[in-house]
Amino acid sequence: MNTRQLFQQHLAPTSPAPVGLHIVSASGNYLYDADGKAYLDLIGGISVCNLGHGRKEVIDAITKQANDYLHIMVYGELVQTPQVAYSAALAAQLPASLSSVYFTNSGAEAVEGAIKLAKRVTGKTNLIACNNSYHGSTTGALSLLGDEYWRNAFRPLMPGVGHYDYNTRELIDAIDDHTAAVFIESVQGEAGVLAPKQAWLEALATRCKEKGALLVMDEIQTGFGRTGTLWGFEHYGVVPDILLLGKALGGGMPLGAFVASWEMMQTLTENPVLGHITTFGGHPVCCAAGKAAFDILLQEKIVGGVAAKEKLFLEKLHHPKIKAVSSKGLLMAVELDSADEVMKVLHNAMQKGLFSDWFLFAPQCIRIAPPLTISAKEIETACNILLACLDEI
Ligand code: PLP
Repeated sequence: MNTRQLFQQHLAPTSPAPVGLHIVSASGNYLYDADGKAYLDLIGGISVCNLGHGRKEVIDAITKQANDYLHIMVYGELVQTPQVAYSAALAAQLPASLSSVYFTNSGAEAVEGAIKLAKRVTGKTNLIACNNSYHGSTTGALSLLGDEYWRNAFRPLMPGVGHYDYNTRELIDAIDDHTAAVFIESVQGEAGVLAPKQAWLEALATRCKEKGALLVMDEIQTGFGRTGTLWGFEHYGVVPDILLLGKALGGGMPLGAFVASWEMMQTLTENPVLGHITTFGGHPVCCAAGKAAFDILLQEKIVGGVAAKEKLFLEKLHHPKIKAVSSKGLLMAVELDSADEVMKVLHNAMQKGLFSDWFLFAPQCIRIAPPLTISAKEIETACNILLACLDEI
């Protein structure tokens, strides 16, 4: 049996029709299949590979840490240099109130940790989340997720969660004395790239303060320069009480984090002690890789180039079949008439050497979220391929 057949037989599936491309290597902004065909990567592993693929500094950091040690002890007991160095580097780039980093294995686990932290800090139980929000696939995160189709089959879910539309007064008015936290994405990704209104976000933060509820911002997809600033919340000057990180955090390795004040994090250490624990969270190799990638992001001032690249895409992406393009930095949704059209474009684009995807709650949109290192020439190539595919449908 060849690898593709083994994939079909032994790897648990997530959809009835996986893309099923067999990628054997990745370098720069390209993926390569078993026949040596190159695919320009327009999604960077879904906002993970912000530096593209195969950065030597990241691989060197992984190799060095693997030689020093792999796993040595459950999270939080021993002083491990990669965890300490990365948490300090992150804190140096965050507001003073976000000084304490709890590393997890994934974005969803960061969400789970934040749910527990918010309940522990406030002594309250209710949570508010947004319709069309995505926060992960574990039961707590799924309870926050804002789409009935994805939630319903797995009931009963976590009780006490109310869902409201992003950018609405209704959501703000729903925050009451029983609300422990409001979970929002700083830009709603899977909804098809929906940015918050400045006045709404400010009013939301004010209401949270008035009612003693915590504002939790999920920057798992929008962090690390994706939207044109290092953190999405910088666009709006509204600092969350808890920040959620993942995806690009690990530089291509699995890593998530919830970040809050030192005082808040103390609540997880007592009554009960070990209020949140994880064996592998903050794995030293993942932290070493993440820090190496973070250093490059800052040293090479990559975030500063995002707005100009967004502009290049926006200038090129005009076609009678395109109904709208919604974007915040290099997180872009190209809206067509239907999900069916999107699937045809994605399929044809792959034949022409371009790899992209769609959005969970906006399947009528093509996802554009390339490595932030994509060049002007590559942007032109990507747009030309997309336009040619649109001509074909
Ligand atoms: N939150 C957001 C905004 C995400 O985009 C994702 C993943 O796509 C998650 C949470 C969950 O992260 P993970 O898949 O690492 O559990």
